[in-house]
Amino acid sequence: MSARLIIVGPPGAGKGTQAGRIAEGFGVPAISTGDIFRKNVSEGTPLGVQAKAIMDAGNYVPDELTNELVKSRLAEADAAQGFLLDGYPRTVGQVEYLDALLAEQGTAIDAVVQLVADQDALVARLLKRAEEQGRSDDNEETIRRRQEVYTEQTAPIVAAYAERGLVVDVDGLGGIDEVGDRIQAALSSRGLTAGV
Ligand code: AMP
Repeated sequence: MSARLIIVGPPGAGKGTQAGRIAEGFGVPAISTGDIFRKNVSEGTPLGVQAKAIMDAGNYVPDELTNELVKSRLAEADAAQGFLLDGYPRTVGQVEYLDALLAEQGTAIDAVVQLVADQDALVARLLKRAEEQGRSDDNEETIRRRQEVYTEQTAPIVAAYAERGLVVDVDGLGGIDEVGDRIQAALSSRGLTAGV
């Protein structure tokens, strides 16, 4: 079946892993704008050259560039029956652009999967990971700051989709299979069933 999905989730909630699993289950591509930008940077494409300084400074790539990139990626054959977007839309302008783009094709977003997790539990998980990987830049303060930035930046995007009843909250704490099963069950209860 077709499925046009978006996934959002705080740092440390295993969003990338779950994105891959959902996409595989539905037979649609997982499209991460961050990954596409990084690939362009490493290949030194004109887009990569433009994006590099912006990304290095920790800023958002301008909407015009990001939207064009998503438009051309969604026009590829593998996205005709659906897709899972990860890291996009990230601004209200991007939400509006995506709405218009899909409306032109007579399609729309089916659901936004929001991984939710207790902040303290996430911080504890990330601190443990930082210790195991010897990442001294990851201390409790920087981790909490990243969580705050995530919440601030994601709130308006999630609110826009929540108004349309499209947001599906899933508890993101647990094993990979456990969380994956929860996502599948939540989507299935909305008539979105993987592998059909
Ligand atoms: P990510 O891996 O999703 O955190 O993305 C890495 C970087 O790519 C971000 O810090 C931004 O500079 C850029 N980027 C990725 N997605 C977007 C987007 N939807 N809008 C603007 N910039 C983006």
